[in-house]
Amino acid sequence: MASHIDLHSHSTVSDGLLTPSALVHHAVAQGVDVLALTDHDDVAGLDEAAQVAAEQGIEFIRGVEISVTWNRRTLHIVGLKIAKDCRPLMDGLAAIRQGRHVRAEAMAESLSRAGIADSLQGSYRFAGQGIIGRTHFARFLVEKGYAKDIRSVFKKYLVKGKPGYCEHRWADMADAIDWINQSGGIAVLAHPGRYDLGRTNMLKLLNEFREMGGRAIEVVTGSHSVDQYQHFAKLSHQFELMASKGSDYHGTGHNYIEMGRLPDLPDLCTPVWHDWPEFRQE
Ligand code: AMP
Ligand code: MN
Ligand code: MN
Ligand code: MN
Repeated sequence: MASHIDLHSHSTVSDGLLTPSALVHHAVAQGVDVLALTDHDDVAGLDEAAQVAAEQGIEFIRGVEISVTWNRRTLHIVGLKIAKDCRPLMDGLAAIRQGRHVRAEAMAESLSRAGIADSLQGSYRFAGQGIIGRTHFARFLVEKGYAKDIRSVFKKYLVKGKPGYCEHRWADMADAIDWINQSGGIAVLAHPGRYDLGRTNMLKLLNEFREMGGRAIEVVTGSHSVDQYQHFAKLSHQFELMASKGSDYHGTGHNYIEMGRLPDLPDLCTPVWHDWPEFRQE
């Protein structure tokens, strides 16, 4: 039987709802047998997930999803097969996490000007030991009754132009790709269909991403439509970038799609795992 692969997922180390260990158990239950954990800007869940994956007999890929700024836009770069404890990568991620604390304070101040008190403490409560991000503010705002669910709370408070949104300077895309490459990993442009770039800017992004050492793009991901699978399959082929596939699972109620439900990559694609020993072809 061929492997069922999922190369993008989140745990409580970032903004997922399941602990690394529970996430691996969930993946197994959904029939996934090659899993990457790719928490935002942190690798603190990888050892636990790797251990449980080994116990459960599935393949585990060490990953991370790095927040970057490119042309004043926020993009996400997934690193797959990153080595443990690579200094430039660890230092880079630590700096991004520090920036997240600064941004969280600005978001809380802005929400407080909009009449919403105590969102900093409230959101850190949801973040627990993990990184702080907009999803934790979203959970706090839903708890307080400011919106009915995560999706509507983002629309109302946490996107550009709304009170809880603060412009933020993340890592440079070139640096993030460098850190990943230095750790022996593969840099993958996450969910390109979510950036709303227009054709010219998308082509410019793919050109620069490739020149900077990026190797793959996500073609099949939870937030892409079936049309977008085809569209990005063609672009990956055109730019000679490999193709990746991952649910971007965050937990029930947060995800675009359940784990283990994504279709295969279109035939046109060269899978990012084409030469990985973890993947069984037959
Ligand atoms: P941050 O990196 O802190 O800005 O948060 C980004 C995260 O927020 C993403 O990884 C998603 O998990 C979540 N997110 C962003 N936009 C939305 C949305 N419209 N609805 C639900 N979750 C979202
Ligand atoms: Mn997230
Ligand atoms: Mn993302
Ligand atoms: Mn993600």
